[in-house]
Amino acid sequence: MSGHLDREARTMVKMVQIYCGAHHHTAGELCEDCSKFLDYAEVRLEKCPYGEDKPTCSNCPVHCYKPHFRAQAKAIMRFSGPRMLLRHPLLTIAHYMDGRRRALHPRDLTREQRLEKTGRFPTLKDNDS
Ligand code: SF4
Repeated sequence: MSGHLDREARTMVKMVQIYCGAHHHTAGELCEDCSKFLDYAEVRLEKCPYGEDKPTCSNCPVHCYKPHFRAQAKAIMRFSGPRMLLRHPLLTIAHYMDGRRRALHPRDLTREQRLEKTGRFPTLKDNDS
């Protein structure tokens, strides 16, 4: 991962750390459940059909997360979002700017546009794992 996606991955790690530390009283380490969530989120990020043009997941027309993980993501964002500004202001501002990005559904992109964004021909099946 590079650029924007790398920054998104770092933002996600910080948000999960804030949430896990407060809810599961872990000191620096993530609990098993939060580690599992973070692994899942990183795979989703790597497979995101938008590539470097990725919108924020909350503004995404695909919503590729499985329901359980999606609910977990919402809880983490709701709790950690307001706390991020003080602790990680640059990541928070960048995430806010990403939130202004509009995204078409991948099926509305041409095959060439998908290749350009991701370097491969992803399908919607990529989002089933
Ligand atoms: S497809 Fe949508 S929900 Fe899935 S990682 Fe990409 S932006 Fe997030």
